[in-house]
Amino acid sequence: MTDLAPLAKGFRGQIVTPLDAAYDAARKLYNGMIDKHPRLIAKCVDVADVITAVNLGRDTGVAVAIRGGGHNGPGLGSVEDGLVIDLSAMKGVRVDPVARTAQVAAGCTQGDVDHATHAFGLATPAGIISTTGIAGLTLSGGHGYLSRKYGLAIDNLIEADVVLADGRFVRANKETNPDLFWGLRGGGGNFGVVTSFVFRLHPVSQVYAGPIAWDQRHARTIMQRYREFLPEATEDLGIFLGLKTVLSSAPFPEELWGKQICLLMCCYNGGEDEGKKALEPLLGGLPDPWFNWMGMMPYPAVQSMFDGLYPPGTQWYWRGDFVKTLPDEAIDAHLAQAANSPSELSLMHLYPIDGAVHRIDSGETAWNCRDASWSMVIAGIDPNPQKAGPITRWTKAYWEAVHPYNLAGAYPNFMMDDEGDARLKATFGDNYARLTAVKTSYDPTNLFRVNQNIRPAA
Ligand SMILES: Cc1cc2nc3c(=O)[nH]c(=O)nc-3n(C[C@H](O)[C@H](O)[C@H](O)COP(=O)(O)OP(=O)(O)OC[C@H]3O[C@@H](n4cnc5c(N)ncnc54)[C@H](O)[C@@H]3O)c2cc1C
Repeated sequence: MTDLAPLAKGFRGQIVTPLDAAYDAARKLYNGMIDKHPRLIAKCVDVADVITAVNLGRDTGVAVAIRGGGHNGPGLGSVEDGLVIDLSAMKGVRVDPVARTAQVAAGCTQGDVDHATHAFGLATPAGIISTTGIAGLTLSGGHGYLSRKYGLAIDNLIEADVVLADGRFVRANKETNPDLFWGLRGGGGNFGVVTSFVFRLHPVSQVYAGPIAWDQRHARTIMQRYREFLPEATEDLGIFLGLKTVLSSAPFPEELWGKQICLLMCCYNGGEDEGKKALEPLLGGLPDPWFNWMGMMPYPAVQSMFDGLYPPGTQWYWRGDFVKTLPDEAIDAHLAQAANSPSELSLMHLYPIDGAVHRIDSGETAWNCRDASWSMVIAGIDPNPQKAGPITRWTKAYWEAVHPYNLAGAYPNFMMDDEGDARLKATFGDNYARLTAVKTSYDPTNLFRVNQNIRPAA
């Protein structure tokens, strides 16, 4: 076995090998179900380090993984017996409040970005947990509360700096390396190591936001109302639906602990009075919720509201789908499966894919499925490793029951690594052939294959 460490000549960041005391902490991923033992973790501090690490991986022939925030479900930010190019130490967000852009280093989390932009009353669309890496989230799409109005994270990407498989550093935007830029917007980490991103920002500061939860006995009515309300709702309202369980801990009222709920998680970009008005057609006439915790708060507060409930190291097994319509029969299938939830943390979420996301042509970026109405995720989650089997079985059974009502593809960021090529091809649809061509141009030997892999042409 080649000892990689002496070969990383000139590397300025930290090299971590299995012999180091820091190894176990450094190899940990967000999903506690994944336990990979890389041969070397290269914690880069700058682009020069990334170039050194890419050259090392290519020249030694070991498998190479790229790690941003380490949140990926199947743990594609690490690799057994290979090299991890770990970008988590590459931090820094430079906001240009006049141009309304932010340059974001690849190791930033969503929370880093929200924190930096909020000081200027600005934000860019990203996901719902602040500890998620901005890099992995963006490269496969990135949806969140602001997406109905401002699109996916990739729709706000202006340019990216990339280290390619041959060690070259390039810029990608609409004018320079446009094919690469197209592929980066949805094609994941297939084309190179992105070292920084430039995002467009929007005016977002104080929001009227929070969860509203009902007894799951009312879920059929709420899901029907949500389905009908969403196409008419103002795009200032981000709102996802969840089938979940009340956790047996504060801040939840003790009498609700362990009870199954239907949840609407809302984020209105504006004041309380307008937010209440926007929600009236949805909430009017519905049964009284068990709790409605909506209130005014800074945008970063809603972005981190779930952080404490889903700490790192918990077991996760995911399945996703894009959903176009939600007929009553599909709702019934959801409710039958949700009723068997194996743990308090396990969930099903439906995130809206509409508004600004639909206004971009499906060929304009690699992210193809722009005619879906929701991105669905079913996640079996539990802190106890002994529950890994039950949560996996529940997720698969739930998915089998509802998949017939859904589209063939799924959001790659909600896939595990056991779904096969056909699923990826269905996800990228008409864009798959072009993705293969871009991969062939930029990574012909498939150096970057620890991901939802687009293979280069033979
Ligand atoms: C609790 C939780 C909540 C989530 N909520 C949302 C949500 O609301 N919206 C949403 O869209 N997604 C959401 N996700 C999914 C999330 O987008 C993915 O898990 C994503 O892969 C995480 O990115 P990361 O950088 O943290 O992951 P990592 O595990 O570090 O990386 C994942 C993959 O991304 C690629 N990659 C990472 N960094 C780079 C880089 N700099 N250059 C090239 N390739 C790179 C690599 O292929 C890598 O294998 C959520 C995930 C979790 C665990």
